[in-house]
Amino acid sequence: MPHATSGGPGRIAGDGSVTAHAPAKINVHLAVHPLREDGFHELTTVFLAVSLLDTVTVWPEDGLSVTVTGEGADGAVPTDARNLVWKAAELLARHAGVRADAALHIDKAIPAAAGLAGGSADAAAALVALDALWGTHCTRGDLAGLAAQLGSDVPFSLVGGMALGTGRGEQLTPVLTRRRTDWVLGIADAGLSTPAVYRELDRLRAAGVLPAGSTAGPADDVLTALRSAPADEVAGHLANDLQAPALALRPELDRGLRAMTGAGALGALVSGSGPTVAALVADAEAAGTTAAALERGGAFRGVQAVHGPVPGARLAG
Ligand code: ATP
Repeated sequence: MPHATSGGPGRIAGDGSVTAHAPAKINVHLAVHPLREDGFHELTTVFLAVSLLDTVTVWPEDGLSVTVTGEGADGAVPTDARNLVWKAAELLARHAGVRADAALHIDKAIPAAAGLAGGSADAAAALVALDALWGTHCTRGDLAGLAAQLGSDVPFSLVGGMALGTGRGEQLTPVLTRRRTDWVLGIADAGLSTPAVYRELDRLRAAGVLPAGSTAGPADDVLTALRSAPADEVAGHLANDLQAPALALRPELDRGLRAMTGAGALGALVSGSGPTVAALVADAEAAGTTAAALERGGAFRGVQAVHGPVPGARLAG
């Protein structure tokens, strides 16, 4: 990849490249309602963008190419047309009537297939970076429309912060808050496929092992608590309907959840479709001590102290 020589906020660097960052998300609350006729589940979820960022750098080149470093560079993340950044490039080029000419490099800090929407973050960062590289001057609304075509979590990766998601998660209502929450993420050895976790939820519900509808309770309680209540009260409202099927597919996740509370977390849940475990802690200092205790304990491949909310996809600089 080219070596940046200059450049400023929102600018094309001296070497012709543009860089954008986008955050991981956790679902503080995720209610999965019964299957819709189109085969998708209706969701109600509270998204929180956290301070674990992927970086996408793009520069001019004939045709499209994708390279990856960091998490998933061992082959978990595709470098061809299956990569969401490639799809984002083709979609933006078609929308704007320009040629899809760019090299895209993803430096991944967000583990792949971890329930942290890493691919969605990359797609959102690619849209923002390519819009600047190609001078396509899309509005935030244009980019949001393209994001929704790329995947249910991509619109949130674009806006970041905190939001209530409905529909498939792509219909967003921003939740304005200055309240910072601190979290520890426990990263598992191998990823979990999101469709497989939804299939397991359907199976457990059909078999009567789980109730037919959501047991997550209303999102309003966690939203109210997130506005002003102490962190231990917020912890009491964390909920995720995908946790039971994720645990059924990966029973050892239970050890991770218990390790989190054993290390001092106020509450812990599986993030999205897992297998990452997200644990709420009192403050940044507690995040540091909890993360250090977990690193010694060995329940996870990796541990990250993060906080939210942070902004969505944005140009570097
Ligand atoms: P979500 O929480 O949105 O369901 P996730 O965090 O569990 O997603 P991702 O990291 O987005 O999962 O990856 C899911 C799959 O998507 C990967 O297994 C990989 O094959 C594919 N993929 C495509 N593009 C990317 C990308 N840029 N980064 C990671 N995975 C990607």
